[in-house]
Amino acid sequence: MLLFRSKYDYQMFMDTPLAFPALHASHAGIWVGSIDGQVQTVGKGEAAGRAAETPMVMLNAPLVAQRLGYPDLSGLDLLELFAFVYPARFAVPTPKGMAKALGIAPPTTDQEVPQFLLVAARTLLAVLDAPDWAEREGAWDAAQALMRLRWPWSNLILARLKKPEKPERWLFSRLPEWEEAPPRTPPRVVTLGAEAVQQQLASLVGGSAETRQGQRDFAQAAAEIFAPRARKGEPNMLLAEAGTGIGKTLGYLAPASLWATAADGTVWISTFTKALQRQLVREAQRIYPDYETFKSKVVVRKGRENYLCLLNLEDALQGGFAGRAAILAHLVARWAAYSNDGDMIGGDLPGWLPTLFRRNGSTALTDRRGECIYAGCPHYKKCFIERASRSSVQAEIVIANHALMMVNAARGRDELNRPSRIIFDEGHHLFDAADSMFAAALTGQETIELRRWVIGPEGKARGRRRGLSARLADVASYDEEGGLAIEMARMAAEALPGDGWLGRLAEGAPSGPIERFLAAVRAMVFARDETNATEGGYGLETELADPDAAVVDAAADAAVALEALARPLTVLGQRLEAMVSDPPDWLDGSARARVEGAMASLSWRIDTVRAWISMLARAVGPVDSEFVDWLAIDRFEGREMDIGMHRRWLDPMKPVADIVLKPSHGVLATSATLRSGGDWKNAEARTGALHLDKPATHFSAISPFDYTAQAEVLIVTDIKKGDAAALAGAYAALITASGGGVLGLFTAIRRLRSTYARIADRLARDGLPLYAQHVDPIDTGTLVDIFRDDPHASLLGTDALRDGVDVPGHSLRLVIMEQIPWPRPDILHRARRLKNGGIDFDDRIIRAKMAQAFGRLIRSADDKGHFVLLSSAVPSRLLTAFPPGTPVRRVTLAEAVASVKTGLSPDEKLRQDIKISLDESNPF
Ligand code: SF4
Repeated sequence: MLLFRSKYDYQMFMDTPLAFPALHASHAGIWVGSIDGQVQTVGKGEAAGRAAETPMVMLNAPLVAQRLGYPDLSGLDLLELFAFVYPARFAVPTPKGMAKALGIAPPTTDQEVPQFLLVAARTLLAVLDAPDWAEREGAWDAAQALMRLRWPWSNLILARLKKPEKPERWLFSRLPEWEEAPPRTPPRVVTLGAEAVQQQLASLVGGSAETRQGQRDFAQAAAEIFAPRARKGEPNMLLAEAGTGIGKTLGYLAPASLWATAADGTVWISTFTKALQRQLVREAQRIYPDYETFKSKVVVRKGRENYLCLLNLEDALQGGFAGRAAILAHLVARWAAYSNDGDMIGGDLPGWLPTLFRRNGSTALTDRRGECIYAGCPHYKKCFIERASRSSVQAEIVIANHALMMVNAARGRDELNRPSRIIFDEGHHLFDAADSMFAAALTGQETIELRRWVIGPEGKARGRRRGLSARLADVASYDEEGGLAIEMARMAAEALPGDGWLGRLAEGAPSGPIERFLAAVRAMVFARDETNATEGGYGLETELADPDAAVVDAAADAAVALEALARPLTVLGQRLEAMVSDPPDWLDGSARARVEGAMASLSWRIDTVRAWISMLARAVGPVDSEFVDWLAIDRFEGREMDIGMHRRWLDPMKPVADIVLKPSHGVLATSATLRSGGDWKNAEARTGALHLDKPATHFSAISPFDYTAQAEVLIVTDIKKGDAAALAGAYAALITASGGGVLGLFTAIRRLRSTYARIADRLARDGLPLYAQHVDPIDTGTLVDIFRDDPHASLLGTDALRDGVDVPGHSLRLVIMEQIPWPRPDILHRARRLKNGGIDFDDRIIRAKMAQAFGRLIRSADDKGHFVLLSSAVPSRLLTAFPPGTPVRRVTLAEAVASVKTGLSPDEKLRQDIKISLDESNPF
């Protein structure tokens, strides 16, 4: 039965004809619904043939195409229509999710879906007539432009949409401008009283709810980081391990908000996953219940590459994009007008929208390659990135992520806005975030990017990218030395790899000194690699030990070429600096901002080139014990993607301690697994506290959950390693026993795909949909939304799902891990293992990963579920990864299936073979 909000809606719906059939394909079958209400089951070939003849309404065309095995399938995608009618609104991209978003009844079987799609399409089209349609502005112009691009929905939309009486304002004039605010004065010195902290906590937790002792203790401990710092370079640092369910978010928000208001300062809260970032936004609303106040006090910050660049969008709308990519650009423009913050990744742009457009160019709409021209941009005053950066100066709470914290610190960005009080939640991820941020890679892909940044587009390149000389033309004409430096840099950049470099290397015909170095690297890697990855088509690598003569000679030439580039870039940086400190008449506010922007991106490039030169020095000289260096060929399914030399810090927390921790006044690093299965020494090493002169203080609180009653770990002992059929069979049996609600974690994409291929159809026929990362053409965030929304669905995935899924309640009741997550035995791991205690180091990593995976299962006091490990070889020493008191049994698959089917009962508890002793030092 259809539900409508009003008689008017119903009438509008009845008046909206739609003369197209609908197509639905799942793993259980394929159905076509005709306009007269008939539904037919059809085969793949017939469905593809009919879709080629007549446009059909479908939901998520790429997914339907994949189910049909017909990649070129196209039609009237309901999701695209939804994105047009309701830009910036959330909807789970399934029939049930659409029904919820539109306020109509969902289909109850696959067979009902085609008719449902037609009803949903008519409902959406009927909205175009509704007088209270909030997203009307801009729709007419967008529909006209989309019609010129032959978007299949455009005629149906224009048939209903009334032409506005006045011409519509175009997007770029509708967006609000940000305002420059005066610099913030340094925070006042305040001391937080214990009573005030507890009162603030009680008010955040809410009138009727009781605060728990663990949470009160946590808030008190967290308040200590806001005490006045005793000595420069010695922040008050607290390491706090707080078990799941303690309520640590409110625990630290209480003293943080109190301090921010009293001191008139800003507290930066950094997370690793988007799930926690979203949760923090929700929790912070308790501090500022009034929405306007909340908006001015709490700011979410992400890396620039997350935000829509308006100039790139304008370019795309005006012919920079063609075909389907241009259609996407118009739908993104619809969204931009209604978006809260312009965040394209994890913000209010539906994560599924870009995935509907293959080879979509959505990344070209963000500022990924540093082509921002700052104040030289006509949209500078409306730019989402600039607005977010300005609001964070005035905010009391900035919610950021570890990657942004590292990149801002490493590249000296936002100097005036440098965080002084920092809370790192999910602190166990700090090491990995630092590891990738402080990595250096002298590879073909990296060097060609630099070439394009200096020289600009070459050959048939499209887009608005400009080289240095075009970006700084006014500088060159005003300052002779600066102009000469630009020209010298342009000439030197010609030594860098250009288009087609991979092909030239494969043919043995490298061009220029850097390509010759890469060719020598490639030959040495092929000669020495012992990872046996050659046949699998995966990456190859070899240590940079005793390099052969060809690599040594080529490295020396490459270093000379890079020096020739670094010199003029450095001179140019100096000229720009001189210009800003003694400005010429023409350097008005906007020109100055542009020059300062150029200085920032220039200094980052100079640092990169200098880092490459020092890496090359290692190729011809002695080892630097601070770093691990190796040579690698990156491959994907047998195709070479990149080649070069890599460098990582042996301990990446060293630079973090110097440039993030030491300049700050107070730092809290917290997580449910901060000690990562080790001791406090491990937590100190993983957070950088080890490198501080003033020792960090420690706090721990155990989880209030009753793991003995809420969870059970089953180690299945009769699945033979390497038996793909048995592995898939085990997954199918467990998912069936559980009735869905399963998160399946894999350590290899290959095994995930083979398991999915073997069981997805079978499960779908039983009404148990299966989704998978790396298989379904859907982004990970949307997959989790779909999984959360359907208690019968199951989801398979790899690393990102081990720590990024927050699904409390019935939707997640069984976690399956296909095997022990052994660390990848690569060169970098070997070096760190050698330094950090051999097998103990491995065990800590494995325990941490198992604890994170287990942590997905029990998210609230009402959650119950099983954790199944499909591996007989689980040493008992690793079982401390699970919370104290969690029952663990070694069982056959049949027993595991029986347990999952029965659910948790007191009798089952009696059958424990092993029960972990209550270990107070494990505060899970
Ligand atoms: S200021 Fe930079 S990032 Fe912002 S819209 Fe303009 S070019 Fe894009």
